[in-house]
Amino acid sequence: MCQTDNRVVGMYRQGSLSSAQKTRVDSVIDAQYSPTDLVMKWESSPSYHGSAETDFIYQIGTVVHGDDEVVGRAWCDDPIEVSVKCDQTYIRIENGYVTKKRICHESGHAAGLLHGSNAVPRLSNRDNRLGCMETPSDGGSESLKDNNRDNINSVY
Ligand SMILES: [Zn+2]
Repeated sequence: MCQTDNRVVGMYRQGSLSSAQKTRVDSVIDAQYSPTDLVMKWESSPSYHGSAETDFIYQIGTVVHGDDEVVGRAWCDDPIEVSVKCDQTYIRIENGYVTKKRICHESGHAAGLLHGSNAVPRLSNRDNRLGCMETPSDGGSESLKDNNRDNINSVY
């Protein structure tokens, strides 16, 4: 789990997303993340190398996690040494599970938001104050809650 490395977040949706899935990702970013202090920007061509890589890369694919119920995952591809920050985070959701809730949830991980059991103070993973960070990621709110936004805004 990492934070993204800048307040300005470059994003790219790979070709594995259908146009409907791309639109859904766009609408979640507009509704949930653009109103925070993060500056969310779509990039027309992604950067996968160097020191200023595209921050969030969205893709559709199989999620291998040792837990059959996991259908979405966000992971840091380029951690920045001696920090909790990441230059590039991949956000992968299995085809057929690309709901607004999961897009909000995995994007939250990419911004550094945690499940309740990993948070300080610790909460139930199903505490509804977690909004879309509630887990398991099916059902529940598809929105960030005040506390999610406050945490994002205090970090960035
Ligand atoms: Zn999660």
